[in-house]
Amino acid sequence: MDRDSVCGMEIKDTANSEAVVYKNKSYYFCSLLCKITFLQSLEKYVRKDYSDGHKHHHH
Ligand SMILES: [Zn+2]
Repeated sequence: MDRDSVCGMEIKDTANSEAVVYKNKSYYFCSLLCKITFLQSLEKYVRKDYSDGHKHHHH
């Protein structure tokens, strides 16, 4: 199940949702507003997504 990275809503119909492809990954949004919000803070949302699988800190 894909999720809206901005509001967290589940996207059930990815074919008819707003989508952005960034660094070979697709992001889906419930509305154009969430898509615009994502694009305005792209690094913030992408980093948040990335950190989920990287909980260890290296010094
Ligand atoms: Zn949304």
